[in-house]
Amino acid sequence: MSIEKAVVMKNRWVRVVFGVLIAVAGFTPVVIFAQQARSPVAPRREFVESVVREAYDKYKNDASGKNADYIPYLAQVDSKLFGVAIVTTDNQVLTLGDVNYAFSIQSISKVFTLALAMEELGPDKVFDKIGSEPTGRAFNSVPAVVDMPTHTGNPYVNAGAIATTSLVSGKDADEKWNNILAFYSKVAGDKLSLIEDVYKSEAATNAGNKALAMLLAKYDRIYADPFESVDIYTKQCSVGVNALQLARMGATLANNGVNPATGEQVIRREDVPYILSSMAMAGLYDGSGGWAWHVGLPAKSGVGGGIVAIAPGKGAIAVFAPPLDEAGNSVKAQKVIEYVARKLNYNLFSPSSVGLK
Ligand code: GLN
Repeated sequence: MSIEKAVVMKNRWVRVVFGVLIAVAGFTPVVIFAQQARSPVAPRREFVESVVREAYDKYKNDASGKNADYIPYLAQVDSKLFGVAIVTTDNQVLTLGDVNYAFSIQSISKVFTLALAMEELGPDKVFDKIGSEPTGRAFNSVPAVVDMPTHTGNPYVNAGAIATTSLVSGKDADEKWNNILAFYSKVAGDKLSLIEDVYKSEAATNAGNKALAMLLAKYDRIYADPFESVDIYTKQCSVGVNALQLARMGATLANNGVNPATGEQVIRREDVPYILSSMAMAGLYDGSGGWAWHVGLPAKSGVGGGIVAIAPGKGAIAVFAPPLDEAGNSVKAQKVIEYVARKLNYNLFSPSSVGLK
């Protein structure tokens, strides 16, 4: 064997031995560690289950709050319904209570219409047209539209949300609506549909939203026909989801836009931080500051009684319980999520939530 060939052979062996060493000593533990860090359930599934059960039992009989009644349908929903679902980024599922009941998604829809608008226009255009400033006012506030320099405020109050809906593409109202519904379904990993009775009830009583849309028109801050936009927005709010589907929609955000059940990239990875930051700022309307203080997770509520909270990289928890507080946020859902997030140490503002001792 020539000297050159021997050197080549030796180098090849060195590379092989090094490769094996790196795989065994470095790479493998990193992979194992990464998997452990990804899921909030594994490897402590039993612990998470017991925490969720504790929270559920603790608040099951809490009767505080009141169903929304400005949308007549919502006043009749059984206020004892109570469901909790967790879906992790590695698609582990944990459910308790009424997790198959389809309730109206209401304002939580705003999160996913924002995602669709960003996919179509990019985050900069959406930020210019809508903004992301908390209003500190009720979700349907007229004074906020008048007073805020952007008028729209942010994508999660009604004015900003109706304007966001007006950005969605489609040759007519039906196509826009179908685009929205198809997009939500991909995010949920399930075929979602409209709850007709919710839509009828809300469409018959949405003069306030029409007024907001007309006011936005005065300021040139709505980007399609105002009444058409309110109608599509009313439909998007009337989409039915159950707690499990909602948790999966949240887990898709936690998982960089990849639905953990289908493996499909359904929300653009680069848009996720914008979506979550707006949730942290305004996801619970004028309750957002208190929520950040107590819980420290991006979340979104709806007057149908749902709240979904996201632990980025880990998973999402969705809770459904109709009675609301003054700001329009489910009382039991807030309590359960706060309890679970504290026990699991998921407050994003706490350095220990990412492992710093
Ligand atoms: N559809 C409801 C509305 O426009 C949504 C409000 C909410 O969930 N906060 O009033």
